[in-house]
Amino acid sequence: MAVKSHSISTQRVPAWCFLASIIITSMEGLGYFTLPHAGAPLSFTDFSMRLANTCALMLIAFLVTWCFLWFFMVWLGGVRRGMALFFMILFFTVFCYLVIVLDMLFAYTTKFEAYWALLMRYFALFAFLLAALSSLILGKVFHRDRPLYFSPRLFTILAVGALGFVFAVWLRNVRFQDKNGALFWGGFIAALTVVALLLWWLGKNHSRLAILQLALFVLILTPLLFPLFSKQSAPSSNAAAHATSHPIRHIVLITVDTLRQDALGCYNSAATNTPHIDQLAGGSAAFTNAFSSSPWTYPSVTSILTGLAPQVHTLVDGKTALPEKVPTLAAMLESAGYYTAAFGLNGMLKSQTRLDRGFKEYNWYPAEVLSARNFEIGLTHNLMKLFGSRKPNAAGLTDQATEWIKKHAQQDFFLWVHYFEPHMPYAPPAQFQPIEPAFREKGNAFMHTRGARMGSVARTAEERAWVRALYEGEVRYVDSQIGRFMESLRQVGIYEDALILFTADHGEELWDHDHFEHGHTLFNELIQVPLLVKLPGTQTGSSVEAAVSNQAIAPTILELCGIALPADQGMPPSFSPLLQNPSGDYMEVPIFSGASIFHDQLEGVIFDRMKYIRGKLSGHEFLFNLQEDPEERTSLTTQDPVNLERGRQLLEAAQASDARVRESLDIQQDEKDRLHHEEIRSLEALGYL
Ligand SMILES: [Zn+2]
Repeated sequence: MAVKSHSISTQRVPAWCFLASIIITSMEGLGYFTLPHAGAPLSFTDFSMRLANTCALMLIAFLVTWCFLWFFMVWLGGVRRGMALFFMILFFTVFCYLVIVLDMLFAYTTKFEAYWALLMRYFALFAFLLAALSSLILGKVFHRDRPLYFSPRLFTILAVGALGFVFAVWLRNVRFQDKNGALFWGGFIAALTVVALLLWWLGKNHSRLAILQLALFVLILTPLLFPLFSKQSAPSSNAAAHATSHPIRHIVLITVDTLRQDALGCYNSAATNTPHIDQLAGGSAAFTNAFSSSPWTYPSVTSILTGLAPQVHTLVDGKTALPEKVPTLAAMLESAGYYTAAFGLNGMLKSQTRLDRGFKEYNWYPAEVLSARNFEIGLTHNLMKLFGSRKPNAAGLTDQATEWIKKHAQQDFFLWVHYFEPHMPYAPPAQFQPIEPAFREKGNAFMHTRGARMGSVARTAEERAWVRALYEGEVRYVDSQIGRFMESLRQVGIYEDALILFTADHGEELWDHDHFEHGHTLFNELIQVPLLVKLPGTQTGSSVEAAVSNQAIAPTILELCGIALPADQGMPPSFSPLLQNPSGDYMEVPIFSGASIFHDQLEGVIFDRMKYIRGKLSGHEFLFNLQEDPEERTSLTTQDPVNLERGRQLLEAAQASDARVRESLDIQQDEKDRLHHEEIRSLEALGYL
């Protein structure tokens, strides 16, 4: 009898596999929850969904592994059942950690995805074979099946304990952050001890133990049924009630990452071919002096979505999420009855940044699809990524946005679409690649060298022309997709009546000032951005010379929609008077740009066609006359003391006013606004930190 109880009953394979999957999933969950993160707190529904999903996939994997090892056991007679269980767990433990390590490399970058996917499969196969082989050899050596043995009761208790532990960590992170830690954990351990004793007693009897395990099975896996009962059709008829109440029914904001103003035909006759964006410009007010609040994505996009300066919204370093009190354009439009949605591609802007505030749908392509269902660093996430993901690109994004437009054309909506191209890596599809044979041959090999961002890979004029040609290929590609998107608006009959705003978060330096890429200076190749605004109704194109900031986009949209701005919000004035009349009644205000990264913390101000730049760390100052020296070659700090002093004073005044606005909006940064490690990693993968 004693000998019999020491072998694992093969009739209960699913139960063993299930319990093992709970233990491993809990380890994954602990990994997720114990990372010092401050992303959006995971709701209980999301938590249980992710747990159940990961658990179910683990269960399948365990059953497969079991079959595999059992085959070796029976067919080769090398190992007994207890050993098989031991090696199965060993294999999965090794496998999980391997996946987590690989995940760090996977987190954002897609360019090496195929390479890592391959490598990972080899690793998995290797671990699998190693486990099977070791179990065979050790089985032969020991001729016994009891080097390691868990009783069914003990294993059940272990699984429940692991599950309880991950649940407790979730509670602690989400619900009881500020409570006394010792009290919480003391209470938890006491409760767990009681449950363990109860299970020990209940598990005495084999049929009772089976019932217990079945109950656990049902408890964990039922959340997988949630989607069947939740409503799939998110847009409700509620929005239709507002159908005729808005002066502007459809607002479309398109932001293109890393797009230089002079890369577009409508701004520069020598630029590459961008017929679709030019066509949009033909019916829009095209601003020639539009400036972004920062030379890189995170601060700039946040300024577009909030109307606030980087020093007010505080998203300047890539390690911070949007503080609670910062009002957003989307939230204001949503409360005015617009259905709000966003589609985008750029790992930096995922919902963990809280830039999704006010958006009813935040479709961050393609990552959200995965993270909505899985632990972020979990095994499933990576498996699904390997088997389910295509390289995300502008075409995929456009597919999603156009599908959405078809469904929502009848509603009043605000739609934001963010294109990632022409950001690095420059890898346009074949038909948009440079036509020059020499460049075609070289492909985009320069990107894979470490010096790509620092610009050290392209030193000769020919190499620089090659990189520029690749960039222009990306611009042509994104132009073609903008064309498809505009066509979809026409097809559903809302192009005419829509308010369409098109801009870029920043430009790109292609050795204009001896550097490459973006984020590092405040020269015009980085902060002078395209800005096209198409009002509802037919309009002839116009060119607007007044200098405006991308912070003014939000107040302009709100004003055009008849939504009153709360006082003292720190937004610049709306530029709507210029839209119908380029020389309309509009008083230019100084434009600030800053929050640069890499070398110095630069801050700058543009006033009366002058630009003053100062390095916070170095103290270096520059002054350019943008009218006479548009390429910003000659600094006038010694020749023009009057404007130098004016620039200094304007910056001082801006800092004081930013601090005042922050205070009046009660914007404070605390620990919970710090981003999750994974988001920071994704910025690192992009090369920003
Ligand atoms: Zn960007």
